[in-house]
Amino acid sequence: METLHQRVATRLLDLEAMLPLHIRMEMQPIEVEYYRNKRVAGQCCGPRNIRISQDLLEQDTAEILTQTVGHEYAHCVVRQVHNRSQCKPHGVEWRRIMELLELPADVLHSMDTSFAPPRKRQRRYIYACACTKTHKIPTQTAMKMMRGHQVRTCRVCNTTIQPTGEVIKI
Ligand SMILES: [Zn+2]
Ligand SMILES: [Zn+2]
Repeated sequence: METLHQRVATRLLDLEAMLPLHIRMEMQPIEVEYYRNKRVAGQCCGPRNIRISQDLLEQDTAEILTQTVGHEYAHCVVRQVHNRSQCKPHGVEWRRIMELLELPADVLHSMDTSFAPPRKRQRRYIYACACTKTHKIPTQTAMKMMRGHQVRTCRVCNTTIQPTGEVIKI
């Protein structure tokens, strides 16, 4: 019997076969990684790389093979064939590929990185020195400096940097 991973590989070949020849000729093979997560079914993390939830693949094999592998594969096609910076993740190019793959172009929140929570913004404490340079210091370092456990000097003017009281988020 085919293992689940073999079935994903077979599904990817079937998907590729559904593409018109001119697109198929541009396609590089896709690498699949598996991860343990019950919340996010799959991710496209590069033009040739997709990640599939091993947990959901075991639990909901048909759905993951059909929808998730198809959905992420369509992202790979867009990223390999189009200039990615001009394409929205689930924009018109992606929907067109989904149509070719005979899949509904729905976007479920259980799918992929486009719905991953935004990266938590980090605080930077602004320090100044004798020259015009501003120094953006990460929280941990700033705390050490406030406690006097660490001193930093500006590499340009060589004076000790001092807190301005300003905090930004990056
Ligand atoms: Zn997506
Ligand atoms: Zn300086």
